[in-house]
Amino acid sequence: MAVILKVRGTRDLLPPETDLWNRVEATTRALFARYGFGEIRTPIFEDTELFARGIGEETDIVSKEMYTFTPADDVGRSAGRGDARNLASRNEKAQSLTLRPENTAGVVRAYIEHKLNDIGTLQKLYYIGPQFRRERPQRGRYRQFWQIGAEVLGPAWSGAESPLRDAELLEMLATLLDDLGVRGWRLDLNSIGSATDRPRYLDALRAALAPVKHQLSADNQRRADTNPLRVLDSKDPEDQALIEGLPKIADFLDEASLDHFDQVKTALTACGVPFHENPRLVRGLDYYTRTTFEFTVPDGSGLGTQNALLGGGRYDGLSEMLGGPKAPGIGFAIGEDRLILTLEAQAEQEGHGTERKLDAFLAPMGIPQNSAALLLARDLRAAGLSIEIGEGAFRLKRSFETADKLAHRMVIVGEDEVATGIFTVKHFARGEQEKVPRADLVNALRR
Ligand code: AMP
Repeated sequence: MAVILKVRGTRDLLPPETDLWNRVEATTRALFARYGFGEIRTPIFEDTELFARGIGEETDIVSKEMYTFTPADDVGRSAGRGDARNLASRNEKAQSLTLRPENTAGVVRAYIEHKLNDIGTLQKLYYIGPQFRRERPQRGRYRQFWQIGAEVLGPAWSGAESPLRDAELLEMLATLLDDLGVRGWRLDLNSIGSATDRPRYLDALRAALAPVKHQLSADNQRRADTNPLRVLDSKDPEDQALIEGLPKIADFLDEASLDHFDQVKTALTACGVPFHENPRLVRGLDYYTRTTFEFTVPDGSGLGTQNALLGGGRYDGLSEMLGGPKAPGIGFAIGEDRLILTLEAQAEQEGHGTERKLDAFLAPMGIPQNSAALLLARDLRAAGLSIEIGEGAFRLKRSFETADKLAHRMVIVGEDEVATGIFTVKHFARGEQEKVPRADLVNALRR
């Protein structure tokens, strides 16, 4: 029979790699909690309209990367119920659904739906979960990928608009990457102004692009018409010289936006978070305002050309665009797959892996010792140690090789050991062997 394989652009995550995923998530959750964030879990699929409005029809994501479907049972139910009038009266027309390509829209929808604005205090929400985009798969770019993200939003009087929030979020990210051991990260920072600065800038950008547009690559010619901001963050090498000559958003910021940006930079400097101002860092979505940022890792960190680890920005107008109250906010999304690839590549460069070994491998020397080994394993595990058990039918050599692969130490469980309660412990790293009474085993096996 033909073997069924996973779908292109998806991945199976297996142990021991999943141990690293879990460690990253545990560190992240603990850190986010220290900054006052609580977890939100929104559905994997949402009404297609949410993304069309929340991300924008003309973006790559919405225009060509979404997994959109109309559930067969909706269609079937509709058909089965007979005529259209009947259906309309029951308001049960087949609904177009989409696997979430990102999570900000879902979080803001939930924020509006659960009237979190009425609470009146700042809401700090984080999520960890899979997202889906039909992109061309390559290293660091998948069709199902994981994001760790957070959003800070609230009514204007909650201080959600404050530059302090932008700086706090960025300082948290810098601390997270340091705590996880990511080396050489770089923070690029920009302000794309307010809803009033942007139209003036867009006019200037369109005017500057009009006479030179035909010299751009086909993709950028299209963007110049539909979403000119996106031309700025194009990586197309042929277009770079031309892009350098375009007007810069910094020259179009009004006083309030400049002041906001200055306060973000001052706070970051005070916290010792290094950043690079990058006037070309934009987000092509209408609702983004003011602060935008991206963290990248240096070449050779396992990501190839996909070196953006995370991105985010302020979106003071999003809630209103989704029919909600005024609720300014700021958020980010980390590509968790890329974060893991980076940690693995950097660990390898430093000459160590990311794998963790078990504390000990118990090797029964014969089948009669199997149950004594199981009992000992139960007690050691109860004391918090990670333990694997061999099999009495194994030859010593086989037990030894398996133990060396899996664990830091091997404990021999032979007839004598069981009778006397004195166990032989082999420490692989030290290349030493010692006799340990059962009462002292837990201590001897602790790292
Ligand atoms: P975005 O939601 O597009 O701002 O992306 C935020 C982060 O998610 C990026 O910086 C990447 O690290 C990650 N990301 C986006 N798309 C993909 C993908 N197709 N595969 C893996 N990671 C992705």
